[in-house]
Amino acid sequence: MSDQNLFTRMANGFDHAARFAELPDGRVYTYQDVLDVSARFANVLTSMGVVPGDRVAVQVPKSIEALMLYLGTVRAGAVFLPLNTAYTPAEVRYFLGNATPKVFVCDPASAQALAPVAAEAGARLETLGVWSAEAGEKAGTMAALGLAASPEFETVPRKGPDLAAILYTSGTTGRSKGAMLSHDNLYSNSAALAEHWRFTARDVLIHVLPIYHTHGLFVASNVTLIAGGSMIFLPKFDLDQVLAAMPRASAMMGVPTFYTRLLDDPRFTGEIAGNMRLFVSGSAPLLAETHRAFEARTGHRILERYGMTETNMNTSNPYEGERRAGTVGFALPGVDLRIVDPETGAPVADGQIGVIEVKGPNVFQGYWQMPEKTAEEMRPDGFFITGDLAMRDPDGYVVIVGRAKDLIISGGLNIYPKEVEEAIDALEGVLESAVIGVPHPDFGEGVVAVVVREPGASLEEAAVQAALSDQLAKFKQPKRVFFVEALPRNTMGKVQKKALREAHSGLFSAC
Ligand code: AMP
Repeated sequence: MSDQNLFTRMANGFDHAARFAELPDGRVYTYQDVLDVSARFANVLTSMGVVPGDRVAVQVPKSIEALMLYLGTVRAGAVFLPLNTAYTPAEVRYFLGNATPKVFVCDPASAQALAPVAAEAGARLETLGVWSAEAGEKAGTMAALGLAASPEFETVPRKGPDLAAILYTSGTTGRSKGAMLSHDNLYSNSAALAEHWRFTARDVLIHVLPIYHTHGLFVASNVTLIAGGSMIFLPKFDLDQVLAAMPRASAMMGVPTFYTRLLDDPRFTGEIAGNMRLFVSGSAPLLAETHRAFEARTGHRILERYGMTETNMNTSNPYEGERRAGTVGFALPGVDLRIVDPETGAPVADGQIGVIEVKGPNVFQGYWQMPEKTAEEMRPDGFFITGDLAMRDPDGYVVIVGRAKDLIISGGLNIYPKEVEEAIDALEGVLESAVIGVPHPDFGEGVVAVVVREPGASLEEAAVQAALSDQLAKFKQPKRVFFVEALPRNTMGKVQKKALREAHSGLFSAC
């Protein structure tokens, strides 16, 4: 059987002379550079004794070299394990202990703090910073070793189910699970997305997502590589940089906060977006209101898709045809998606809420060394239980209503936070809201709303409660409403409901 290595399959279509990336310091990376630099890193890793199946853990600032280290690891047949740059040494300790990588590459600035952590896990410690001609030692030991290594490397053949990456799901330390992703998982999903979203060698993608997460690492980077397109590769979402890049770009992938931040800036106009053909949103729910405001401003309908670390992307709104606000569209080609009753596993009728389950070449190989956790989330017929609650609208579009673990049960009745949030968000003076369930002595859980006011608004708790009194059944109405400056969000734009629940956990028990 031919080589199924993700890199080999992506590299099939490379035009060596074509541009791959434009970098913030003005450097341009060609596809020949992609081949050369990834080969250098593959040689360095191999010379350190890394063999197929070994894990290479990486916690480094975003840079094109970090992306090449990902490709080099895959070429060496090893398993790439990126870690969120925000993790503390104590958190990194858990990941290294769990994954036992042969090599751990960190930011040169953190090397001292992480040396004992790497030693404890038996991993060789190397560093990689953001490269520049002047960076010197700050570029890291991997950069120096890479420069000295050969740019020729015979990519190690792999079978489709062999592992290419492990990505830890976001969660608290100790409970985070390593999702094992195979060469087939990654290739099949990126190829499906490139086709579905019509990516070609002419595309120029604004890359502003982090590369330790599935969205920026696999969706954005692999789709570009498969299509032979190029990117404007930026360290993070910075309004000025994105606005400056946009007239030269054709596509952007982002989390919803990127789009609200663009809309908040009057410089963002239809003209600036005149060359763009596609804006993709995912990783967190895009408000229907943002979708509409974006269209009104630019004439573009944001294309919302839905996926997760374990499954890659599952659904997408259509490229042609209606991109419907507040929905994540339909299952991607090759993905089987059903919405079922969480208790019985039986499919629910259209319009009813249930849990999304998916099956297909995109679905991961299980959690690293946690077979019991894998078994808990897999149905015997191979469907993965996502934990996302959703329904289909009358035309079959999937509408996500929240995570199952965020469902509120008050007095034995189910309350979907999104329904309450939508009612609150529609009130004058409200920017956004998060609705949570908090332990309650009588009801099991009581509904609590955390609200961000629009600038200058002076809305108070009683006014919110009064406004909702004839809109929502009594059991759905918030027993308390709190106001905050901003909702707690992680870097992928997800509202941290767990943190909100913890902050208000004693609220009703005290009374
Ligand atoms: P992660 O594994 O970090 O990518 O998080 C995956 C989770 O993000 C999913 O299980 C969903 O709960 C959420 N998510 C991803 N995309 C969307 C979307 N378009 N709308 C709503 N939630 C989303």
